[in-house]
Amino acid sequence: MQFQPLLEEIVAELRADLGREGQVASYIPALARVPAAQLGIALRTREGEEAHAGDSKTPFSIQSISKLFTLTLGMRELGEALWERLGREPSGNAFNSLVQLESEQGIPRNPFINAGAIAVTDRLVSRLDAKTELLKLVSSLCGEAIAFDEEVAASEAATGFRNVALANFMKSFGRIDNEVGTVLDVYFHACALRMSCLQLARAAGFLCRDGAHPCSSEQVLTERQARRINALMLTCGTYDAAGEFAFRVGLPCKSGVGGGIVAVVPDRLTLCVWSPALAPSGNSLLGMKALELFTARTGLSIF
Ligand code: GLU
Repeated sequence: MQFQPLLEEIVAELRADLGREGQVASYIPALARVPAAQLGIALRTREGEEAHAGDSKTPFSIQSISKLFTLTLGMRELGEALWERLGREPSGNAFNSLVQLESEQGIPRNPFINAGAIAVTDRLVSRLDAKTELLKLVSSLCGEAIAFDEEVAASEAATGFRNVALANFMKSFGRIDNEVGTVLDVYFHACALRMSCLQLARAAGFLCRDGAHPCSSEQVLTERQARRINALMLTCGTYDAAGEFAFRVGLPCKSGVGGGIVAVVPDRLTLCVWSPALAPSGNSLLGMKALELFTARTGLSIF
């Protein structure tokens, strides 16, 4: 299949809509300054063929897409024990909601809502130098040095009152072992990783390769673990719009409020789209449209 012309066609088609609809995330001040009229798309096949178009090399704040990598480290470090304090059901609530945590005794519904990622981060902090390991993992996966955007991390730390509340609430149930401040420092930095579409399409490559590293024979996760991440992406990866994504796109996806979305065609390729203006669901508006065009035109879907 010729992917390069297709990606160029999708970007050209959506360019007319740039800046027309949607809102850049404003609750994190450093994100509110990002110009909305940008659109990038990149993919990498299981065999290593790459294609990209638009602003595919512009780094952006990956935000909740980082929850994929935190979960990967968590699965690798803890295996089945990770699920002692973590569910795997869609929440049906906002990504930063406190509501379910009370009735479910501080056990988050899944690793892709904020509470879930904070719980995984806590387990990592108990075992390793989590910030260093996270940087090592993403840099190795995409074959380039990746860094935190310290300004975004500081901006989140200054305004992340809800995340502070979530972490303290879980701690009140005995579900967080470390100091809340230490755990959140790692969580905010993970959200503040800066990567481009091309880097993310590469870095998520192990998810279309049964857990095998995108550019080496190293096994990042077992095949079963990688398939389970894809299952969680499909059911819980796009805030409260997972049903809409399955319906319109038909691929496991993980989005972030920075406007990025990573999608996986199992056994075939990984894809990343980015456009900062968000739909009310918190997902990139043009990103979602781009993915919909991609699956409609290629027929690549898990259904
Ligand atoms: N850093 C953001 C927060 O914790 C992540 C939000 C997101 O991308 O879903 O609120």
